[in-house]
Amino acid sequence: MSGDRRGRKKNGATFHTAGGPGAAAGQAADSVLVACIKTVLATLFFGLRTAYFAFLRLSGREVPWTFVPFMYHSVKAGETGMFSRQMDLLKRYAAVVGAEFSGIEALPARHYVALTFDDGFEDFEHNVVPVLREKRLPATVFVVTRHIGRSPEWIADHGQRLAHGRTLNAEELGAMLAEGIANIGSHSVSHAALSSSLLNADEIRAELEDSKRHLEEAFGQPIRMFALPYGVYDEQVLLCAQEAGYDRVFLSIPLGSFSNIDGHVAGRLEVSPTDSPYSYWLKAQGAYQFLPLTIAAKARWLRWVRRILGIRA
Ligand SMILES: [Zn+2]
Repeated sequence: MSGDRRGRKKNGATFHTAGGPGAAAGQAADSVLVACIKTVLATLFFGLRTAYFAFLRLSGREVPWTFVPFMYHSVKAGETGMFSRQMDLLKRYAAVVGAEFSGIEALPARHYVALTFDDGFEDFEHNVVPVLREKRLPATVFVVTRHIGRSPEWIADHGQRLAHGRTLNAEELGAMLAEGIANIGSHSVSHAALSSSLLNADEIRAELEDSKRHLEEAFGQPIRMFALPYGVYDEQVLLCAQEAGYDRVFLSIPLGSFSNIDGHVAGRLEVSPTDSPYSYWLKAQGAYQFLPLTIAAKARWLRWVRRILGIRA
């Protein structure tokens, strides 16, 4: 799987989200400086890619389509207006599709985006659903089965943005499914970081299989998608997810190719209702697809430094 070669390694696992298992995924980790650098790089990437696509058109070649699932966590009270404007922007510059998008019917030069929400916080019901309903946009919510309708006890730091409130309960999730406003995927049983160096094989399988079974029994429909808690995984976890019957596993970083559905594994781009309008506009245009290139370059650079210093990985 292409994603496993990116990101930093720790005890054999790959950690892609801010803070790893000790922190709540989705908490903005970028400093203002890093965010500014990313915006500048995305702007450059967007300009170069626009020129490249123009070259392809002029030379009679097909412009590739792109697919970038967005990863939200929470839309707090007071952020609904910002989220609604983001959805307007998205509708204008991209085609919003379900997270199960296969690409079979993708059109050349089209940019496809899927909306995913990790952890299933109750604010999804109050602050997201009305916007999705009004704008007729599909979304997928990844829920932690042991914590359905409860507080997010896996978040140890109570100062974090996501630590308070509760998650959606079974009635709310069932009503969303019945209305067709959102699909449901698994985000594990306990929100444990899934890595062979942290859990044994039975524990990993239980997180994948028990959460799937729980949701299928509760809602009477197959559960085909899984989002990795904290973005942590290794080859063994991806294999177990495939054996458990998941069609697609979502990472917490974007993957690198223009048409980047790697069959069983899909990358995602972290977004937030608090993203600046310009930054979100770039994300909606696929301009943050430079990130996989920088992650791969960083991994290569670290390997090179280790080799020079004689440090074993
Ligand atoms: Zn999560």
